[in-house]
Amino acid sequence: MAIKEFGLKSWSDVGEAKATDSGSKKGKDDFMRWENGNNDVRIITNPYQYNYHQFKLEGDSGYGVKLKCPMQNCDLCKLRNEDGKLTYRVLQRWYVGIIDRKTEAPKIFDMSWSVCQQLLKLKNNPRIGDPMKYDINIVVDKNNKANYYTVQNNPALPLSEADVKYKADFDLDTLIRMCTPLTSEQLTERVAQHCAKNKMAVPTPDTVSAPATPAPASSSEEDEEDDDFTFTDAEV
Ligand SMILES: [Zn+2]
Repeated sequence: MAIKEFGLKSWSDVGEAKATDSGSKKGKDDFMRWENGNNDVRIITNPYQYNYHQFKLEGDSGYGVKLKCPMQNCDLCKLRNEDGKLTYRVLQRWYVGIIDRKTEAPKIFDMSWSVCQQLLKLKNNPRIGDPMKYDINIVVDKNNKANYYTVQNNPALPLSEADVKYKADFDLDTLIRMCTPLTSEQLTERVAQHCAKNKMAVPTPDTVSAPATPAPASSSEEDEEDDDFTFTDAEV
């Protein structure tokens, strides 16, 4: 699978492809903290797309590590199961600038595929439209992996003066940097580091066979469960 695109997408062309890690150090305070229940936010930037592998070794008790796919000469893209499918799929997410209405502070939202799809549904409804024209309530159900996020639209409302300033000042360069693919050398190094940390051999195309634990059957939602730890793991 070769996904060549990363970085800025408009709300019109985001989500047309199905399916990362590098960039500046962002602290957890820069990322949106989702609370169970209602979370009102306002989207103030376009989505910035990145492509990544969730690299999790057998026996790794955590979620593994998110590595942005170099998109060419990628060690992880060379690993195939016996059925020929990628051992570590290339997934897509998007960084989006938002205002958290709880704190009225600008935050970065590491947006999953399912939230993206729900926003596109709102956008494609002519009576609702552009998801930057109204506040959004993202309802989080931390006990429901299949429907972790439900996106609702609030009535259309212009940005306040403070919102306009946050939007104008939002650091888009950081979003772009955060989406930049690793070089293939960086990916090789990160894979080696992660394997060393887990005391496992680096997988090679010769050593990989069908995974001992099959991937969950759910398709597009299966990357959802990592949302809670994104801000500690996302940046490299
Ligand atoms: Zn790759």
